[in-house]
Amino acid sequence: MDIKKLVKPNIRSLRAYQAEEIPCRVKLDANESPYGLKVLRSVKTNKYPDPEAKELRRLVAKELKVKTENILHGNGSDEIIYYLITTFGGPVLYPVPTFSMYGIISQSLGEKKSGIPLDEKFDLDTDRFTEAIKKKKPKLIFLSSPNNPTGNSFSSERILEIIEQSKGLVVVDEAYQPFSDRRSFLPLLKKYKNLVILRTLSKVGFAGLRVGFMIADTDIIDEVNKVRLPFNLNSLSQQVALNALQDIKRMQSYISAVKSERKGLFKEMEKTAGITPYTSDANFILFKARDAEKIYQKLLQRGILIRNMSGSMKNCLRVSVGTLKDNTAFLKALKQVL
Ligand SMILES: *Cc1c(COP(=O)(O)O)cnc(C)c1O
Repeated sequence: MDIKKLVKPNIRSLRAYQAEEIPCRVKLDANESPYGLKVLRSVKTNKYPDPEAKELRRLVAKELKVKTENILHGNGSDEIIYYLITTFGGPVLYPVPTFSMYGIISQSLGEKKSGIPLDEKFDLDTDRFTEAIKKKKPKLIFLSSPNNPTGNSFSSERILEIIEQSKGLVVVDEAYQPFSDRRSFLPLLKKYKNLVILRTLSKVGFAGLRVGFMIADTDIIDEVNKVRLPFNLNSLSQQVALNALQDIKRMQSYISAVKSERKGLFKEMEKTAGITPYTSDANFILFKARDAEKIYQKLLQRGILIRNMSGSMKNCLRVSVGTLKDNTAFLKALKQVL
């Protein structure tokens, strides 16, 4: 029996997200934080988790200075992206290159999608967006700012222009906002009913928990809540996330450490002949090199795992900011390889 023939055509032609475990000594490929907590908490395993994650949402609301009812919790922000596309459908619009899940989820759900190339500075090309908004009338536009994998924030004026032009929802994915000195779009939620903001704990030390949030108008939250699975966030993750947020100073000190390491790493990369790093507002650095595939393989032979981006960006590689020790090991190996 050919299972492939049973599968819906949009799923058949889809390629699964590449998240295989590659053995390595220094892991700098997935934009994780090098800092985190080792925790084991007494959680009642026989009871279902709080379906509304009330305590957690209350604390997040306080931190973000929004109301609890304006927050929806997800099993990572990936799940929320899934829910948004399930609820509103396509066409879905996003710049390219960007976070791959916007396209993958659109396709799995059988929704139309299109990618609008970024300009030469990796900023939003507003002319092309304006044209695409008019032509395609997207229900959803996803803008990751700072953008993964380019690392830069989009210019706020351009994001605003898109929010104002769009008759659909504009989702500003702020997964990397904690590493940026730019202002968050959170204060603009009151002004723009079609604005949705995504946040995650994944890049600030808690990728293992799978905890993400959507912040939006209650009309949007109420609709998305209809498709949210009731117990999408397990008790352990809720409890550990709660503890992490109660110790916000610690989390902030981790974020500061990563920002300071990013500065040092960038300086060293700039001085390295044969590569060109791009400035970053996130916890990773994108860089260009002549033979990206070879560099990727040779680093891996030395135990250093980074991300080969050359599939979507010619000759580009992405390295996550690690500890001083990790970054030093990476730089040493990189210099040998080059
Ligand atoms: C990593 C990443 C996410 C995924 O976050 P999770 O909360 O781990 O699902 C979302 N958006 C962008 C732009 C990312 O880079």
